[in-house]
Amino acid sequence: MTAASGETHEFKAEIRKLLDIITHSIYTNREIFLRELVSNASDALDKLRFEISKGTTIADAEAPLEIRITTDKDGGRLTIADTGCGMTQNELIENLGTIAKSGTEAFMKSVAENKDAASNLIGRFGVGFYSVFMVADKVTVTSRSFKPDAAPARWISDGSGSFSVEDVEGDAPRGTTIEIELKEDTKEYADPQRVKDVLRKHSNFISFPVLVDGEKTNTLPALWRESKFSVTPEQYKEFYKFLTYDEEEPLATIHISVDAPVQFTALLFVPAKGLGPMAFRDALHNGLDLYVRRVLISKEVKELIPEYLGFVRGVVDTEDLPLNLSRETLQENLVLRKIQTVIVKQILDKLKSLAKEDPDKYAAFFKEHGQALKLGYGDFAHRETFAELMRFDSSAIERADNDTSLAAYVERAKEGQKSIYYLSGPSRDALDLNPHLEIFRAKGLEVLYLYEPVDEFIMDSIRTYKDLTIKSAELVEAGELDAFEGEAPKKETPELSKDEEGSLDDFLKKIKDLLGDRVTEVRLSTRLTQSPSCLVSPDDHMTSSMQKIMRMVTKDTSVPKKALELNRDHALIRNLLAIYRNDAADPFLGKAVEQLYDSALLLDGYLSDPHQMVARINDLLADASALHVKE
Ligand code: ADP
Ligand code: MG
Repeated sequence: MTAASGETHEFKAEIRKLLDIITHSIYTNREIFLRELVSNASDALDKLRFEISKGTTIADAEAPLEIRITTDKDGGRLTIADTGCGMTQNELIENLGTIAKSGTEAFMKSVAENKDAASNLIGRFGVGFYSVFMVADKVTVTSRSFKPDAAPARWISDGSGSFSVEDVEGDAPRGTTIEIELKEDTKEYADPQRVKDVLRKHSNFISFPVLVDGEKTNTLPALWRESKFSVTPEQYKEFYKFLTYDEEEPLATIHISVDAPVQFTALLFVPAKGLGPMAFRDALHNGLDLYVRRVLISKEVKELIPEYLGFVRGVVDTEDLPLNLSRETLQENLVLRKIQTVIVKQILDKLKSLAKEDPDKYAAFFKEHGQALKLGYGDFAHRETFAELMRFDSSAIERADNDTSLAAYVERAKEGQKSIYYLSGPSRDALDLNPHLEIFRAKGLEVLYLYEPVDEFIMDSIRTYKDLTIKSAELVEAGELDAFEGEAPKKETPELSKDEEGSLDDFLKKIKDLLGDRVTEVRLSTRLTQSPSCLVSPDDHMTSSMQKIMRMVTKDTSVPKKALELNRDHALIRNLLAIYRNDAADPFLGKAVEQLYDSALLLDGYLSDPHQMVARINDLLADASALHVKE
């Protein structure tokens, strides 16, 4: 070897662990090492092209930008060389062994969950280079940085605990050459035909020439630059797979070419699935790849797409930016903002037509990405489209399906209905039993069920839909629902006598006295048909779940004061009235009223001390069972 000073370095601890897993437990899908090395070569060429476009002086300026792969079938070796940006000796040490990569941990976790899927996705975790040790006994990386006065260097490892780095005597061409000594059972990758097949499968869209033993293998150009009438569905799918590593077809493909106010083309995809175990990487991977006149400026540019559409993948290529754009100033860039505006509208329109033309597909979309999409409630410019795109669970549907649109609600609404009603709760079961909805059920009025805090913000922001105001069922005013006939609530109790009627006011006063400051008022209810009582917010601009959110923000843990409403036709209330009329000071009355109040708090989600309540229930049960025994 023409080495000068050889030096051994330990791999960083977590990389050592990663290598251990890669070399000893992944045996399927090993071909993807080739995709990873070619993708690194392509990244290096992109970086170099970017430098050239900025006018930087580079070494070997005349060398063509390309990736050359050579096979040595007899020797069981494979070499991948690029003329990209290359690495200095220090960069070799850092990039290939000593710098911690945030994705290492996540990758090892997903290997533990599913080896086959994980090995396919290794590149997404930012540790793609190490996949070479799935097939290599020994790897030699020789590199020469594009910086004119940098010296070439060599990195050698067998993928166990350490690697060595040495100087290279004499000169070396700009870029990186990776020589692989294949393992006994992976010699197939020294066969040029096998190599070409793998490249065609995974690396067809690399935007630099890829040559195998001198022959160019990649065929597809920058697809987004083509007219959409000349691109086949197959090509779109293939490009999507190349871009995302997702094996599933995308749910929607959007190919746009715009001349004003900014000239750009974009090729965008809505993935069928949130990328599951990759959620961690996904948050980091939000954004679109930005090209200026086919030169990659930056991957995953977050300024091109709002967070709530962060599940969209794709590329944008514009004529209207300078090539020497600094990545740091993307944020305030006006052109990017204009592009974003067009893109957002196009995506939302596409989703809207998907919802119309293929409701099942849209339902699948909403199930996967609705969580993200919902965060668009703050985008007031698109409020109308946003309202069309939302889906909720509904009292009008037999089983939870979270697929009711506001349009479907309006279609089912009753004649003369002026509001779209909703209510928040922890679950469908809880809402089915919520006393506030009894009157709605009795009158056959539909109520949308909301389960997440963000849903209330959505309702707040949409406000009206097709002339109907959007309103919480809790905030319905007395008499508002009178106009709607419904099956009259069953009255199991007889009419009140004149005398009983006369005691009602004092009875309510007595209960208010018993509860004191804990309630603002005790009154008779017009909304209850099944339950004996419920708590009603005195502030009719805020629903109880919105209050809960506000209280969380202000760290207020006290129990909010509300009005207690009683159902005068409920057997329990009737009995309490009778007890009161018999002896206003009966201690049973006090116990029962405490329990009524606590039960209402419990349904509202505010009961903080269940022990007291259980003790009281036991007490009341003892009283009731004693009566039973006497009979
Ligand atoms: P990622 O590509 O996601 O950064 P990798 O593990 O594939 O992660 O590569 C690690 C790093 O090594 C790259 O970020 C790059 O800095 C460097 N590198 C790898 N291959 C090359 C190459 N062919 N030319 C220049 N740098 C490279
Ligand atoms: Mg890589």
